[in-house]
Amino acid sequence: MPHSKNRILSGIRPADLRALQPHLRLVELEHGLVIAHSRQRVHQVYFPHGGILSCIVELKSGFAIETGMIGNDGVFGAIQAIDDRLSLNKVIVQVPSQSSVADAAVVKHLADSSPDFRRLIIKHEQFLLGQVQQTTACNALHSVEERMCTWLVRMYDLVGRDLPLTQEFLAQMMGVQRTSVSGVASGLQGEGLIDYHRGKVRIVSIDGVQRRACECHESVREQYLDIFGKVSVETFPEASDLYRRSDAE
Ligand SMILES: [Zn+2]
Repeated sequence: MPHSKNRILSGIRPADLRALQPHLRLVELEHGLVIAHSRQRVHQVYFPHGGILSCIVELKSGFAIETGMIGNDGVFGAIQAIDDRLSLNKVIVQVPSQSSVADAAVVKHLADSSPDFRRLIIKHEQFLLGQVQQTTACNALHSVEERMCTWLVRMYDLVGRDLPLTQEFLAQMMGVQRTSVSGVASGLQGEGLIDYHRGKVRIVSIDGVQRRACECHESVREQYLDIFGKVSVETFPEASDLYRRSDAE
């Protein structure tokens, strides 16, 4: 069942899934696609099967910065749908993937009739808010190298070790000069922690990158686990190792 590749969908009650399933469509999310604009109404709710959606705050000066990432462990647009709210920021597809999509009106209807589903959506919003708050502290207090390594670890958790990224895009997402990103990237590459080649980053040593990261990646992981707990491989086969519950637990 393709929709179970998203953790939110795999976590909803069978009765709720039966109600939602006829309204779910499968779409391809291509790199750079804008799925929401700041202060505009959200008409579609996205449950990604992989890849990364970036929540971005744009300033009038033209600068932009990423404040949160959503992958197959999350959803975009559900909280806005259940309360007829506007998107707080721009959301673009940073790493492509397939996604299940439902009309906002369908998600609102289900949330109105199922407290369990509504609770799940609110839990995810709580996690996203925690992630944004952690990113705010990270951007203000940690070095570019620490931030970049934290960013790579979060991406690793969502999509694995091969990341389609240009340095220019990375600099934009982090709100720093491209030269700063280049310097850090070449340092990490020189130490054999990443391999950077033609717009692709391969994380060679995730342990090494984690050691260079600030505490923020661990805080985001802990927040997720505090809110959602681990999942079994049977329930959510797409989960990264981080979120899996081993047989021993
Ligand atoms: Zn940090």
